[in-house]
Amino acid sequence: MKQITVLGATGSIGLSTLDVISNHPDKYSVFALTANTNVEEMHRQCIAFNPRYAVMSCADSALLLRTLVEQSKLETEVISGEEGLHLVSEHSAVDVVMAAIVGAAGLKPTLAAVHAGKRILLANKEALVMTGSLFMAAAKQAGAEILPIDSEHNAIYQCMPASYRSGMPLKHIRRILLTASGGPFRNTDLADLARVTPEQACKHPNWSMGRKISVDSATMMNKGLELIEACWLFDTTPDNIEVHVHPESIIHSMVEYDDGSVLAQMGSPDMRTPIAYGLGWPDRIESGVSSLDLFKIAQLNFEKPDEKRFPCLRLAAEAYRRGGTACAILNAANEEAVDAFLNKKIRFDQIATLIEQVMELVVPRHQEDFDMIFEDDLAARAMAVKLIEQGL
Ligand code: NAD
Ligand code: MG
Repeated sequence: MKQITVLGATGSIGLSTLDVISNHPDKYSVFALTANTNVEEMHRQCIAFNPRYAVMSCADSALLLRTLVEQSKLETEVISGEEGLHLVSEHSAVDVVMAAIVGAAGLKPTLAAVHAGKRILLANKEALVMTGSLFMAAAKQAGAEILPIDSEHNAIYQCMPASYRSGMPLKHIRRILLTASGGPFRNTDLADLARVTPEQACKHPNWSMGRKISVDSATMMNKGLELIEACWLFDTTPDNIEVHVHPESIIHSMVEYDDGSVLAQMGSPDMRTPIAYGLGWPDRIESGVSSLDLFKIAQLNFEKPDEKRFPCLRLAAEAYRRGGTACAILNAANEEAVDAFLNKKIRFDQIATLIEQVMELVVPRHQEDFDMIFEDDLAARAMAVKLIEQGL
């Protein structure tokens, strides 16, 4: 029986993870669940999964949940804050940590799991984007197993040689073909992008996801973050990764070998497939995802990303090339920009403008350590807020 902690249990990935787990009560037991403020959903999950711990971000939400848990006569211990998140990420009883908190908020608990040498199912791409080489080095040192859950990276992982998955260095890889749906505005008139609403941006054509990653998909910053994520996970550079817009989201990414062979992983756009892969690895387990109907899909299309429409892709590649804390600065600026867009403080087309300005004004530092990354994250956020207040 594997003991699982789900960080970000009430989100889109958290719910999909619990759905897969619920189909395997003989294999997995929920050790801990965490959430930001959604007390109601957390209470429901405590009833369904009876975890040893439930962690809420703030003490007030924890108080509310504790009352509900007591009323339901559950044995779950309700705790709160950063210490609570650390406790359930690094607890000696835990085998697997699903890292599914959105954004930089997920970094510290994910790192706690890394340092404790857990198997980490990594959905929280921002954590890796921010800390890159430090994250990978810490995982190696602690013997933590990082299994990518982002569908593209999970696909790439599956297409890599078996020797790589058992710890040998990668060889004979020519390039990675990273697929992207192109989001909801792939064909929108450029002039209209200034007027699109948060609701339109959050309506993804193929995937149902949290609001932040949905906006990232619409700007294609999501693919930019994934480009950086792939560089760290698969020890490569943006020069060896080519983004392919593939609107059907059936091929989740590809790996091209030296002999010209291209391996692809395909499936319905449903995150339960990569989640089940991560939970079951090295075995395969039932995910609940229906079979792919290629007769119905009939056609797969590919196009090059439009650089004018999606400037965030270029900004992400640039941040990776600058190195040091530049990716943390990019990520922080993006989080602030997306938040401002969702709260109608800036327009959709100003997201990229804001990120570019922050990248010009906050100088990245090299020879970084974790503290430097946290400092530059804060500096980038402060700069973004200032620029928004000044009206860009
Ligand atoms: P979501 O917004 O649906 O859920 C986020 C979860 O994080 C919630 O449980 C929320 O309570 C928790 N959370 C938010 N802010 C927090 C804070 N400050 N402190 C503690 N907990 C906090 O997001 P999601 O779509 O599930 O995405 C989660 C992560 O997975 C993101 O990093 C995203 O990029 C990645 N991811 C998601 C998908 C997808 O299909 N949804 C696919 C690939 C990768
Ligand atoms: Mg993805």
